[in-house]
Amino acid sequence: MTMKFEGKTALITGSARGIGKAIAERLAASGAKIVISDILAELAETTAQEFRDKGYNALAIKADVTSAADVSGLINNTVAKYQTLDILINNAGITKDTLMIRMSEEDWDRVLDINLKGAFLVTQAAARVMMKQRSGRIINISSVVGRMGNAGQANYAASKAGLIGLTKTAAKELAGRGITVNAIAPGFITTEMTSKLSHEAHDAFLNNIPLKRPGTPEDIAGVVAFLASDDAAYITGQVIGVDGGMLM
Ligand code: NAP
Repeated sequence: MTMKFEGKTALITGSARGIGKAIAERLAASGAKIVISDILAELAETTAQEFRDKGYNALAIKADVTSAADVSGLINNTVAKYQTLDILINNAGITKDTLMIRMSEEDWDRVLDINLKGAFLVTQAAARVMMKQRSGRIINISSVVGRMGNAGQANYAASKAGLIGLTKTAAKELAGRGITVNAIAPGFITTEMTSKLSHEAHDAFLNNIPLKRPGTPEDIAGVVAFLASDDAAYITGQVIGVDGGMLM
């Protein structure tokens, strides 16, 4: 693998496990210095240690993305340790699924708070650093569901659609400072999040995937690595579907 991210710092939220961990590993393997950030402090440290054992440069920082104080500490500690912040991946996200008619206000607020407000807080704090640097890459992990809706996921779909609006707005506001902002819309990816689905829901998803297999966290990580690379310098404000053809 080429060391195309040598000297770059990448911060990935919600990266103790799942898609975020695969993204962190992919960027680390290409030479980036990595910040593993998660609400799960112990697991974040275990993941960072696993990466250091492989010879990667990795640091764990506990942060709840819904807390402005945590986010400010996260960005300050990242820059204190690695001097720059070149790549931000807003990946932290949760689901709390039920039909809209039964959805509690609490479940609506929690999902919007983490998936959308969290991305806003981290983007705002990271953008202040990147604007001074006059360079940066921000990649938001949205979802196919944010583009097509999904019964039982009103809160999640709204949060992921909102993330697309945030992506395009940030892309317009930050373009003049050499910062690109893009979103990835994964389809059905095998992780802890999707392991909670019933057999029926799992099969229903598979039947709608032309490529006839669920995606892997590595399928997402490869596209993140492309968007974070120099090859993607002229791409901003875009939503890239990585969904096996689910939405076309
Ligand atoms: P995952 O395995 O549950 O990983 C998400 C990580 O984010 C978890 O470690 C989670 O910790 C952490 N997190 C939750 N709340 C947080 C907070 N307030 N602050 C910081 N970290 C927090 O999920 P995944 O499947 O890898 O999903 C990663 C991203 O991809 C999410 O944004 C998800 O919406 C998106 N996505 C996933 C799929 C899919 O099929 N898997 C499809 C489309 C989009 P806890 O365990 O404590 O919650």
